[in-house]
Amino acid sequence: MKTIKPPLVLYNALKKSRLSGSSIGFVPTMGALHAGHISLIRQARQENAIIVVSIFVNPAQFGPKEDLKKYPRPLNKDLALCRKERVDFVFLPSIKDIYSEDFSTYVSVEKLSGVLCGIARPGHFRGVATIVTKLLNIIQPDVIYLGQKDAQQAIIIKKMARDLNIPVKVKIMPTVRQSDGLALSSRNAYLDKKERLDALVLSKALSLAKLLVNSGAKSPLRIISRMKQLISRKKNARIDYIAIVDAASLKPVRKISGECLIALAVRIGRTRLIDNIIVRV
Ligand code: AMP
Repeated sequence: MKTIKPPLVLYNALKKSRLSGSSIGFVPTMGALHAGHISLIRQARQENAIIVVSIFVNPAQFGPKEDLKKYPRPLNKDLALCRKERVDFVFLPSIKDIYSEDFSTYVSVEKLSGVLCGIARPGHFRGVATIVTKLLNIIQPDVIYLGQKDAQQAIIIKKMARDLNIPVKVKIMPTVRQSDGLALSSRNAYLDKKERLDALVLSKALSLAKLLVNSGAKSPLRIISRMKQLISRKKNARIDYIAIVDAASLKPVRKISGECLIALAVRIGRTRLIDNIIVRV
């Protein structure tokens, strides 16, 4: 396994593989790796000759009041995990290498970026789309692996690749959960014991929604209201949003049909958590 910091060094290191036609799989991360990240890395390992994992806590996707400073950065542990998973290259760019002082070019995926998480986190998806574009330019992978856990992010990147003719296949892998249902997230590390228990309301609310859909419920408003009821029983939980939207356009649906994304963001104490499921009717 090679760890590389300068973008150009990684670009050149991958040149030979690219020219010889070896497929390159890429997993972008912000580190603090957990089983969710590992599932993406394993899928990439299975399907490609060369795999690249990036670890970069991207300042451009954090708002001024968000957790950029305190975001966990257990680099040695992350590198050990990557080595164990037989990663070929870990890309660890410095902030300076990615954002020069006079940096001024951003990628914005319109419409999709202004809904759901985009409302409470203005600029977040612009930061995401920009860094992913830069990483795709540097690495030029055949396949990029993303998690369903960040459904809106995955949909935005898929759309961006299509809109900008970026020749990469976008693969979205299922959300990995702990045995009690909590979706794995690097931000779970912020939760204390009580909050960790309260955080189960997210997956519980989604399970309730699924149950209602499976038993024939068609009204998003009613389903959302039942989810709200369930979540409001936890004093520590503050709903940011609950939405039932078309899984491709992210537009609200009037009636449950086709493929719907049921997504929510809830603050547990000071920690904002997200989760989602897709229902197919
Ligand atoms: P992050 O390090 O949080 O930026 O996430 C890097 C990638 O891992 C993104 O594509 C995420 O969607 C994905 N990911 C994060 N948590 C999970 C999870 N619990 N299951 C599957 N993928 C995940």
